[in-house]
Parts: sequence; structure tokens; C-alpha cells
Amino acid sequence: MILKTIPQVHIETFGCQMNESDSELVRSMLKREGFVFTEDRERADVVLVNTCAIRENAHNKIYAHLSELRTLKKQRPLVVCVLGCMAQNLKSAMTEKEPLIDVLAGPDAYRQLPSLLTTALEAQEQGLFQKGFALDLSEYETYEGIMPDRDSGVNAWITVMRGCDNFCSFCVVPYTRGRERSRDPRSILHEARDASARGFRQITLLGQNVNSYRHEDWDFARLITAVADTAGIDRVRFTSPHPKDFPVALIKAIATHPKVCKHIHLPLQAGSDRILELMGRTYAGAEYLALVDRIRSTVPDVVLTTDIICGFCSESDEDFQSTSRMVEQAQFDSAYIFKYSERKHTIAARKYTDDVPDQVKGMRVARLVETQRRITLERNRRYIGKDVEILVERDATRSSTQAMGKTDGNITVVWDKSTGDFKPGTLTMKHIFDASAATLYGECP
Ligand code: SF4
Repeated sequence: MILKTIPQVHIETFGCQMNESDSELVRSMLKREGFVFTEDRERADVVLVNTCAIRENAHNKIYAHLSELRTLKKQRPLVVCVLGCMAQNLKSAMTEKEPLIDVLAGPDAYRQLPSLLTTALEAQEQGLFQKGFALDLSEYETYEGIMPDRDSGVNAWITVMRGCDNFCSFCVVPYTRGRERSRDPRSILHEARDASARGFRQITLLGQNVNSYRHEDWDFARLITAVADTAGIDRVRFTSPHPKDFPVALIKAIATHPKVCKHIHLPLQAGSDRILELMGRTYAGAEYLALVDRIRSTVPDVVLTTDIICGFCSESDEDFQSTSRMVEQAQFDSAYIFKYSERKHTIAARKYTDDVPDQVKGMRVARLVETQRRITLERNRRYIGKDVEILVERDATRSSTQAMGKTDGNITVVWDKSTGDFKPGTLTMKHIFDASAATLYGECP
């Protein structure tokens, strides 16, 4: 770097955990090249915005954010760089809509960031404005050899695979993150040992479709077992699997390994077979329910959560009723329920019409949220009167006199700090005396 001063970088991350994990990689790569990071956006020479393209409101949020940066850029020199799925999906359409952007980099092109940012900063020093793009998707990039720069905490996210080959018709991921590739298990285990040595007590393995993890003779069941055997790690979680390929070996690993959490996030997306087929999910409702039964009979205390989309193209009232029935039958512990939002380049955008009125989508979401809230409350009340083990995380959101942590099943528990049990990263037992749809309330057993 031949710049007059050492550039200070501020990074802002939107969207999913995969983006959080990518931001840690980006920090690591830029620090290696002499960039310095600051929490204070006002002092930054470079602002990186790591973006999400999964829904239209994510786009709107990011454009609103970029317009704040426009004001800042009018006041002083500033390099603005957009990373992530929105940069990859919209490409130059993004810089046409928001000309303040200097650099665009997609999820497979972060190794080029140090040189792109240096070029933009050098141009700026000379009073010039030079745009830089790095948007190639790779079949091989797994950022091997780069140890993420993590903030300290209880949980470390470790990406085990990148991309997705499933091409669900509503989903933009195969176009923004490219084809599926798995990391070498040796480097994943090295990262798990490093996280443990640096005080992390929980690891969450990340991938768009972790069940497809393959590296030589390693599959995901073998990988999660090996990660759970890492000394000093108390819990291992993962997200997300696809219901079409949930192997028995993985269900057994969850059931038998004491450190693999009994929590499975199993995206349903819809309960109508017709809609599931249009979505390209490759399973029918009955197959999904059979998998739920198989999981529950092998892992009786499992906590099951899901994702559901309301108002996908041509979804009728009858289709929606099928989804409502599935939600009642599956008895999820909780669910993320969203309106369908058409994404550029997807199969659904090319082949189907986004024809369910927004108001109908909204009503269906509200009805399903209501149904799920009732089920979640009933399921959470099962814990009343029981002692549960909790991994302590931090202060409770609503009161600094209370602490919060998570059960093995990832359910939030809140208790009074005056009980003395408040050391983040430790395991503690709490007696549950009350429950809402969002929280369990604990006290000393
Ligand atoms: S499995 Fe389907 S929904 Fe999940 S990332 Fe891949 S294409 Fe998207």
C-alpha cells in the first residue's frame, strides 16, 4: 500500500449469519494488508456495507443506509464499498441507482478487496473518482487459509461450505453465492480448535445446505461429530439443512453426541404439494412430516424450527390452508414466516407471476404468525417446573439487572443476575417457573 496515511475501515453487516461470517473473513484479509478497523463510522476513510438480497425490504434498508453515506461523502473524502449478495445480484444496476459507490465486490471476490480499495483510495488522494468491480463467481473459492477475525464472545460461526446447487425457484443464493463447494475438514477443525483456545464455547457450523457437505470420505455427520469432540467446546449447532437429504447418520449424531445441540432448523417453506413443486423443493408435505416423525422418534427432546413463505406465485386460499395444517401437524417450536418477495434472476421471476396481492400475503403471514405463536407458547410451557442447562450469553435485552442465555434447543432464558450466575460462556442450571412465546423465565434450582 503506498498511501499517505493508514486507511481506517468501518464495516456494517446486513442479513444472515453467512454475511457475519464473511465480514470476519474480510476484516482478516484487510488487516493482513495493513488496513485498520474502526467502530466509528465518522472517522472512517472506507465504509464497507455487506449486503443481503434475500427480500425486497433488505434492499430498501440498504438503499436507505447508502443515502446516509451520501451525506457523509459530500462532507469529506470517503470510499464506499458494497459487498455481498446485493452487489453480486444487481451489479452495475446498483452503481447506476447509487453513484456514490466506489467499489462493488461479490461473495467470491473478497481476496481482491485490498487492491480494489487501495486503487480507489489512491485515486481519491489525487482528486479522482475511480470505480472498481470484482463480481466473478468461483467454483473453488472457500477462503482456505484465512482465519476469520472474530469479535470475542460465546459463539463462533464457522462456514463449512459455500454456495448452493439446489436452485429453489424463489431463491437468489445460487446466483449470488455460486455453486456448492465444501471446505477441507482439516481447516475447519483447525478453526474450531483456534476458537476454543480464544475462549469461544459454542460453534455454529454454517452452510446454505449443510447436508450436502462432502470432502473426500467426510460427510456432515462425521464433520459435526469431529467438531463436537474439540476440547473446550461445550455446544455445536448448525444451520441450515435441506429436508430432501437428511441422513439417518446425522439424526443419530444429534441424538447421541452430548455436545451436538438437539435443535434442528428444518425449512418447510410451504405445506401445499403444488406450491412445493413450483418452488422446486423436491419433497411433498407427507415426506416432510415423515422426516419430522423420524427425527422426533430418534431425538425425543428435539427443538424444531422452520422457515415459511406466504403468498408464493399462484398460492390459493386452499394452498395456504395446507400450510396452516402442516404447521399444526409439525408442531414447530418456532418459525420465521415471511411474505414472498420476487428476486431478480430467480426461476420464479423468470417463469411465474408474482400474483398474490400484497394485502393477501400480509393477512396470511399474520394468521400464520398467530397460529405459530399459540403453538410456541404451548411448547415453551412444557419447560415450566423443569431444570434446564443454559449457556450464559450476556445481559438481557430489556433489563441490565437480568441475564440471558440459551437452552440446548436454542430457546432464550432470562433470570435475575442477583442469583450470581452471570459469567458469559459458562453453563448453568436454571429452574423454569414461567414461559412466554419468546422467553423462558428461570431461577436458581
Ligand atoms: S436450498 Fe434452496 S432456499 Fe436454500 S440456499 Fe439453496 S436454493 Fe436457496
